[in-house]
Amino acid sequence: MLNQQFRRSFKCSCGGRGCLESVASGPAIKQRVITEMKRCRHTLLVKILEQKGNLEAREVSDAALAGDDAANDIFEEVRYYLAVALSSYLHIFQPTIIVLGGGVVQAGALLLEPIRRTMKQLAIPVYFTRLEDIKFSMLGTESGAIGAPSLIFFLVNIFINDKRSLYAE
Ligand SMILES: [Zn+2]
Repeated sequence: MLNQQFRRSFKCSCGGRGCLESVASGPAIKQRVITEMKRCRHTLLVKILEQKGNLEAREVSDAALAGDDAANDIFEEVRYYLAVALSSYLHIFQPTIIVLGGGVVQAGALLLEPIRRTMKQLAIPVYFTRLEDIKFSMLGTESGAIGAPSLIFFLVNIFINDKRSLYAE
């Protein structure tokens, strides 16, 4: 949980409220657009959503780059939440590289540099200095779907190999 603003955040796909996914993922961006539409705010995204019945993060980022106020406000929030969360992860895990995956990857340049700038303000300087890079996963929106079974495969392999070594000894 990041801060009190999550009290008004959207329900997460896990059933909870306050997860990063509920405010800074592809589905969260889409949900924000729907909320903006309900507020009758003028946005280029209304037309896309009405025509297609769906909305990609890339379309929201294209609208933001075209100067759409609602899309830019949404990205400002998404970037801030990601910077706060990644700063916390940086303090806990002290990684040298952070790789972002999922639908937000489609937002491209709108995210990485602004997130890095905000993290520089938020993070403990010595940890931020050690962070060499923040980049997007080459697997894009499939990274979660591929990563989860890969992790299970990796853990099962460790378990099997440990068992073998136990028997060998
Ligand atoms: Zn969740």
